[in-house]
Amino acid sequence: SQNKENYVPRSYLHTLTIDMLSARKLSLDDFDIGRPLGKGKFGNVYLAKVKKVDAIVALKVLFKSQMEKESVEHQLRREIEIQSHLKHPNILRFYNYFHDQKRVFLVLEYAPRGEMYKELQRCGRFDDQRTATYMEEISDALLYCHEKKVIHRDIKPENLLLGYRGELKIADFGWSVHAPSLRRRTMCGTLDYLPPEMIEGHTHSEKVDLWCIGVLCYECLVGNPPFETASHSETYKRITKVDLKFPKVISDGARDLISKLLRHSPTDRLSLKSVIDHPWVSSNSRRVLPPVPPAKKC
Ligand code: ATP
Ligand code: MG
Repeated sequence: SQNKENYVPRSYLHTLTIDMLSARKLSLDDFDIGRPLGKGKFGNVYLAKVKKVDAIVALKVLFKSQMEKESVEHQLRREIEIQSHLKHPNILRFYNYFHDQKRVFLVLEYAPRGEMYKELQRCGRFDDQRTATYMEEISDALLYCHEKKVIHRDIKPENLLLGYRGELKIADFGWSVHAPSLRRRTMCGTLDYLPPEMIEGHTHSEKVDLWCIGVLCYECLVGNPPFETASHSETYKRITKVDLKFPKVISDGARDLISKLLRHSPTDRLSLKSVIDHPWVSSNSRRVLPPVPPAKKC
């Protein structure tokens, strides 16, 4: 929020800037680099101003040498390919990329309110209004992805950023795929969001994302994910048994929604449309859509 004051989105100018960013061959000379926004696995992310225009973006820098070491070039190509085709108010917009000898640069929409994860740490837990708003936003974004046959598969608060008005932005399509597929058997990081079918090694479909938003809803309201334990093997067990317990603070409506998403069998999970229409979501959500930029002149 430190940067909120000097970031004024002007939708009209914005459209022109987006056109300019995506049409031209870019180089580092097109940007004034500002403060670092965060550290990524293969480099840092910086705030950057597009020279000559009043526009701020996030510039993600990836070092080719480090990517080659871990053979993730194909993964980056897919991330770019997928994200460049997604245009939705709750998906972090990918504008363009360019590279020099040592680095690849991704030009991304800037999310002024940062990571949801940090917000959750700061607040401890979110109330029903805030969580229901996130649920509507993420369901709408995933509905759009699934229509395009894209499964995110890595929904968690660390990969969700917050826009100027606090709206949710899905970022990090590094693990996403075109459905259906069996991949990522060697898993890294947290297990907390893994659905049973991924643990048990069955083919998975877009329904993995339904499980993940159930876990997300729980974590937002409680402050920690539902199957968290001290050890990987215990978490595995709790997930495959769907060992779900609600603390008293969770309202009946939220309980109902979460237990309809956290179903062992993928086909039993509530659809994205039904999440949006769920009474707890529709009565608590305060979603505001960003202004639509004016239509382009021919
Ligand atoms: P990891 O795989 O470890 O998550 P990564 O290489 O995917 O790292 P990102 O998650 O994309 O890197 O970025 C690292 C951090 O930089 C994010 O956690 C976030 O805090 C910040 N960040 C990235 N992109 C943006 C953005 N568009 N707007 C604001 N902050 C951003
Ligand atoms: Mg990340």
